[in-house]
Amino acid sequence: MIFKSSIGFRFSKENNTVFRTFNCIQNTENEEGFCVATKDEVEQAAELAHQAFRAYQKTPPELRAQFLSAIGDELNTNREQLITQFCKEASLPESRAIIELNRTVFQLKNYGDYLLSPNWSRFIESRDAHQTLFIHSSLQAIGPVVVFGSSNFPFAYSTAGGDTASALAAGCPVIVKAHPMHAGTSCLVAECIVRVAQKLNLPDGVFSHLLDNGHAVGSQLVQHEYIKAVGFTGSIKGGRALMDLAAQRKSPIPVFAEMGSINPVVFFASELEKNTAFWVEKYAHSISNDAGQFCTKPGLIFVPNTPDSTFFIEQVKQALQQMDPKCHLHPNLFNSFKKQVEQSFDWIESGQPFHSQPVLRELKSIDFKKNEQFREEFFGPQSIVVKYQTIEELEKMLLLLDGQLTSTVIGSEEEFDKHESIIDLLKERAGRIIFNGVPTGVTVCDAMVHGGVYPSASDSRFTAVGSQSVYRFLRPIAVQKNK
Ligand code: NAP
Repeated sequence: MIFKSSIGFRFSKENNTVFRTFNCIQNTENEEGFCVATKDEVEQAAELAHQAFRAYQKTPPELRAQFLSAIGDELNTNREQLITQFCKEASLPESRAIIELNRTVFQLKNYGDYLLSPNWSRFIESRDAHQTLFIHSSLQAIGPVVVFGSSNFPFAYSTAGGDTASALAAGCPVIVKAHPMHAGTSCLVAECIVRVAQKLNLPDGVFSHLLDNGHAVGSQLVQHEYIKAVGFTGSIKGGRALMDLAAQRKSPIPVFAEMGSINPVVFFASELEKNTAFWVEKYAHSISNDAGQFCTKPGLIFVPNTPDSTFFIEQVKQALQQMDPKCHLHPNLFNSFKKQVEQSFDWIESGQPFHSQPVLRELKSIDFKKNEQFREEFFGPQSIVVKYQTIEELEKMLLLLDGQLTSTVIGSEEEFDKHESIIDLLKERAGRIIFNGVPTGVTVCDAMVHGGVYPSASDSRFTAVGSQSVYRFLRPIAVQKNK
């Protein structure tokens, strides 16, 4: 079976280079082939999106809410096929595929519902004292948006994921550049979106889906004059390359990139003394779940230098050692994780291809302070723990950290009050601060902030998760009337 790009409502007729996806659990290539979109097809998709924008931006919010909700229903109708493809391409268990699909459907409906809430478009009215000048402002869609599917969330942050849902909610046509590691899942989801768009008589070009296993299609799209914004989830290298491309355009556009984060966790003494077993279980799971390939995995844990923390470290290490090795999403992600680990630690052979053994690495504070490589994201089931001697030393180490998606602090109310400066330092860097919990698990809700200070995200003023993510793809416009 050969999958093709969809350019608006029609499928590509070209037979360009074919690539395949890989099943890490079976250690074999999947049978389906994927045709790379041509330069002409990218051009056609951009042209169609540009034309569709005129009509789509003016659709009533109720129709866009119906569109999103119907995409969710269509995904549900096809869930068996989608889940089978997801498991083949992402090498994740079926239970994860089900959770992620449910979340995607909920997210689509939730963003649609938000459009029905009063003043979602932030209507503001002003007039002068003499009643001669009337100005009102509200938000309008920014234009066609390019969405790059992420490798680690084939449903929730890919083809019909958060970026697509929020851009469509805002009134922007979307062109998805499929992630090549799960191109089949992406194509099946794209087919669902196209069917719904046709059923609702939405303009051709409101959605296109382009395939590529290299950078040509993505680069062409980001540089295209008809594209007005970009949504991206992935590496700092990839996100930064797209930000630079967008900035070099004749008319630069915003790139909303959600990139790397190590999600520091700070334990104060009290909880390690009182609730060790609870935190051991929570953190062993959070570090290793789905091979630690989450943007919010706790990658760095600071603990006080006490006998309780020594016990905590030993217990987490043991819990991780006793787990079965975890399968990575794709050979490339396994290989780059292994290469990165080998530059700093001994690699633990798991005995199974593309699997790694979950592990907690203990590091002396002096080594952490001296070496920058420990402040970078390790995209796998590994975390680093560092003991601090004093609060001043902890402060010094936190000051070395870049921007983060999350920061976590674990302790008592008294400790939070006493160490306010630590909490301030964590807040200065992160989009979300968690008290007495784990950073993994990002709830879809109005108050969620999934973003942070660069390089965790490209623009700390916005969120990539939750209904407020729609504001990335809207711009204010004022209407002035004189009497
Ligand atoms: P990636 O390499 O950043 O790629 C993401 C998407 O962007 C892919 O479709 C990729 O195409 C495209 N892309 C990357 N660089 C590009 C460029 N210069 N021009 C045009 N398109 C470009 O991320 P990934 O493949 O998903 O994973 C690689 C690493 O990213 C992981 O090991 C991990 O460290 C990090 N990651 C982080 C998160 C997070 O949420 N923090 C999530 C996923 C991955 P190609 O695939 O064709 O290169």
